[in-house]
Parts: sequence; structure tokens; C-alpha cells
Amino acid sequence: MDFPWGDTRRFNSGSRFMRQHFGGRMQRLAIDAGFTCPNRDGTRGTGGCTYCLNTAFNPSYCTPQKSITQQIEDGILFHQKRRGTPYGYLAYFQAFSNTYAPIELLKSKYEEALQHTAIQGIIIATRPDCLYEAVLDYLEELQQRTFVSLEIGMESCRDATLRRIRRGHNLTCAVEAIERCASHHLPVGTHLIFGLPGETPEHWLDDIALLNALPLHHIKFHQLQIFKNTLIEKEFQEHPEAFHRLTPEQYVHFMADYLERLRPDIIVDRLAGEVPPKYLSVTNWHHLKYEDIVKQVENELERRNSWQGKCFTPPYNLEEK
Ligand code: SF4
Repeated sequence: MDFPWGDTRRFNSGSRFMRQHFGGRMQRLAIDAGFTCPNRDGTRGTGGCTYCLNTAFNPSYCTPQKSITQQIEDGILFHQKRRGTPYGYLAYFQAFSNTYAPIELLKSKYEEALQHTAIQGIIIATRPDCLYEAVLDYLEELQQRTFVSLEIGMESCRDATLRRIRRGHNLTCAVEAIERCASHHLPVGTHLIFGLPGETPEHWLDDIALLNALPLHHIKFHQLQIFKNTLIEKEFQEHPEAFHRLTPEQYVHFMADYLERLRPDIIVDRLAGEVPPKYLSVTNWHHLKYEDIVKQVENELERRNSWQGKCFTPPYNLEEK
């Protein structure tokens, strides 16, 4: 049976979207363009978000000491060894805040990536408070000639949590950023972390109504990963009772519950995070592979004869939040 998104998988997967959009498997090539972040350079804060450790996400080839072209070349070799040759590549500006610079500098970085013959589009990750109008105008124009996608870090839908993890922005800022991107006709997604202090699975399920009401094109989820030498590691050591950390088995059931309530047209780019174990301070996930989690979530949905959006309820008023 094909689901509304056009394949037999029980959730609207990012890989399905890419195959249908481009004609085959697309490989993201992470790029560190050397940007910083207002939560680190003093504009919003200096210590960064309490959980942040960018090096944990950056592949080894990815460093701002190399040109963007060199990172693309090295990234192609890196991924070909692991996953073979894909249909095409997308430049993924991932590290730090990738719209946090003057417009001419942003243009030069994005255009260098797009000039590489292997690159068929760009994905830009950023903070909600780093999207000024000139960038959105430029990206709107850019997408007339190439694929452009945005990822905005929300992390939590709750202001108390955003303060606690020192994000330096509130929920309204994130909501408005997503709406502004959509008003510029840009495919906009967000990123959420499950397991931040003070939150429970009931909160995360409750927050889906707000997310369903936003003009989101895609979404990514991570379980909280506590990295060594971060502020959140210290908070966890001092107040472990504040953290609701799901075991992999609990996470699989939770994610099935979550997907059942999620709007079916929102493309799910990622269900969980996976980083090299050497960065982790504590884990109850051991060496579980990402593919295993995805398979288990799909098996759970099949066992329930369920799918993304099966329990989706459309009406929602943002004013109630
Ligand atoms: S906004 Fe992103 S890069 Fe900046 S401190 Fe937070 S997690 Fe790190």
C-alpha cells in the first residue's frame, strides 16, 4: 500500500522526498564555512547553548581551515568510501549559524559551493534570530536557479526550557522565523531535541499541535546527547532527576506515538541522532546504529497498523499556546 506521500514507508521520509525531487539518492556534504554564532560571540551570549558541541556533528574532513571547494572534494571521497556513489550531492552548511554574516560574505560562501559541478543545491542550518530580510530575499531569488532548503533550530517549544538551555531566543522568535521563511516561499524545516531538562514525553506530544500549525516543510528529531565538557553534562551530574531520558525501546514507542500525530505532509529528515561515542559523556543507547532505530520505529508502526498522521487533528490556534 502506498501512503499519501507516494511510497510504502510508514513515515514521510526525507530520502523519499529527495529521490522524487532529484531522481535518485542525494548525499549531503557537511561544510564548515567558518561562521560563528551570536550565542558564542557575545551578541546573545558567550558560552553557547548548554548542550552544544559542534565538533561532535562535523565529519573529520569538515574544517574551516579548508576552502569550501576542498571540503566538497574531501566529502565526496569520504562518503563514497562508506555509501558508494549517490545520484547527486547537496552542500550542507551545518556548523554553527550559517546565515550569521554580512550578505556579501554569505553569497560568496554559498556560491562557491554551488559552482562545484557535483553540487545540485544547498541546505542551510541556522538560528531563528539570524534570518534578516536581505538573506531571505537573496535565498528566495537563489532558489529560482537551484535547490535551497533551510533548517532552523527550535530545539524546544517551551520558553522555560529555552531559557534553561541558554538558547538566547524564545519560542515566538522561532515561530516568526519559520513563518518569515515560508512567506519567502522557502522550504523551511526545524530541529527538535527530546530529553532537555524539565521536559517529559507528555510535553513533546502536546507540542506537536503547535508544530502542525506552522508552515513546516520538513523536520528533524534528536534524542538529547550529553557531550563531554558541556554545561549540560554538569547539570545532568547535579540534577539527573530533571532529565527524562528514554531508553532506545522507549524512544521507538515514543517516536511511533509522535509520528502518528504529526501532520502527514511534513517531511521527516531524521528520527534520532548518532555521533561518535567518544564525544558522549553518558549514554543509555550504547552502540545502537541510526538505521536500527529507524527500522524499529517502522516495525512498531507496522505492528500497530499505523503511519505518520494517522491521529493528526488539524485545528489549532497559536494564540492558545
Ligand atoms: S546556536 Fe547552535 S552553534 Fe550556537 S551555541 Fe547554540 S547549538 Fe551551538
